[in-house]
Order: sequence, then C-alpha cells, then structure tokens
Amino acid sequence: MSDFNSYQRSASKTAIYPDEHRILYPALGLAGEAGEVANKVKKLVRDGPDKRPDTWREDIASEIGDVLWYCAALATDLNLTLGMIAAQNEIKTVGKKRGRYNRWVRRHTIV
Ligand SMILES: [Mg+2]
Repeated sequence: MSDFNSYQRSASKTAIYPDEHRILYPALGLAGEAGEVANKVKKLVRDGPDKRPDTWREDIASEIGDVLWYCAALATDLNLTLGMIAAQNEIKTVGKKRGRYNRWVRRHTIV
C-alpha cells in the first residue's frame, strides 16, 4: 500500500485550492470526475462499438486518474492516507466476499 501513499504525497504537491475549502473542494471534484468517467462510458454505450474512438480506453483511464487525484486530495484533507484507506477497503470487500461465500456454502450444503 506504500504506492498509494507515494502517489498521495505526489498529488498533494499539485493540490492548489484555498484552505477554507479543504474537504469540500476535493469532495466536489471527486463527484465531478466520477461523472466524467460515467459520461465516457455512457458515450460508448450510445455510440456502439463501431464509433468508439481509438483512444477510448486511455480516455477513461485519464478520468479514473482524475478520480484518484481527488481521492488523494480528500484523504489528505481528512488527515488519512490512501494506503490505509485501500487496506481497510480490501479487508472490508474481501470479508464481504468471504461472508457471501460462506453463506452460499451453508445454503447449498446438505448435512
Ligand atoms: Mg477529468
């Protein structure tokens, strides 16, 4: 998870917004960039595979990068590290998956 923290340190050097807008500014930016990701995907659906620009994957990756930047900025404003957030989320999601699997096994196991 140190790569996340390294990225966060790098991103913080380019975070330029007034101190009084800490937390709010990156939270709004995160929502905006997530919308840009969704809009790119929407256009793929609308235009179909024949009209996809050659750079569609890179275009979406760029927007995901913008989302990541705002995640890093928001985490910094909250005095959190991306590495810790990623680790906690991994525990949460893997735990949920394991829980669902265990419940499925219990439902489908004849005793
Ligand atoms: Mg963007």
